Amino acid sequence: MDIYEKAAGILLKAKKAVAFTGAGVSAESGIPTFRDPGGIWEKFEPEEIGTVPALLRTAKNNPDLIRRFLLDTVKVFEKSKANPAHLGVAKLEALGIVASVITQNIDGLHIDAGSQTVFEVHGSLFRARCLSCGQRFPLDRAALFKRAHEALDDEAGFRIENMTRILPSCTCGGLTRPDVVMFGESVQQLEEAFQATTACDVMLILGTSGVVYPAAACPEQAYRAGAKLIEINPRESCFGPIVDVFIKTSAATAMPLLMQLVESR
Ligand SMILES: [Zn+2]
Repeated sequence: MDIYEKAAGILLKAKKAVAFTGAGVSAESGIPTFRDPGGIWEKFEPEEIGTVPALLRTAKNNPDLIRRFLLDTVKVFEKSKANPAHLGVAKLEALGIVASVITQNIDGLHIDAGSQTVFEVHGSLFRARCLSCGQRFPLDRAALFKRAHEALDDEAGFRIENMTRILPSCTCGGLTRPDVVMFGESVQQLEEAFQATTACDVMLILGTSGVVYPAAACPEQAYRAGAKLIEINPRESCFGPIVDVFIKTSAATAMPLLMQLVESR
């Protein structure tokens, strides 16, 4: 049997599938994976900006590096929009096949595509968290990018204090930070993610190599709980031995073909 038909057959029998996604899903939205060539960590050192203490140190010693890092990041994310992989996952949820999405991405594109139940275990760039009261609130993309350019575009006039104007303050008056998980910080919504994983009957693994723990433990956990596993990845990953169907291509290429089969039954 064709692997696409096999995958579609598994999905059509699913009642509470989970989509588990990583950087590969957003690669075709123009967001390079952080570790790959062209990714953020090729131009910037995690030791300089990847942790909160490093960020504060660099802000003091080399503010222009922070400015360039943030501006590069903004330019990547403002061009990005949901691709057929995100749209396919959202459609599977609308059809009652997928119950939730667990993503390691911080780009908010699953929510943009219409997915309703999304666990963003590494946080989201499009959410702020109050440093005083801990409240989280969503950020409007266009408004965020506009403020970022106002603060970052002018190299000569840049002051590190400008950074505090990029994010709105909290209703309590406190300063906020992007609600993304930096190196050394604990992942978010892990309990919800593991609950969904243990309860799922099918896991659709998209564009993740499975190296970043603890989130990468999800497929193994789903497998042990008896779920069928479908993996779509352009490269072999560490999940090989436990998956039922492996489609070796990008999620954005495979999902439209798979969705055609799912929707035609
Ligand atoms: Zn607050």
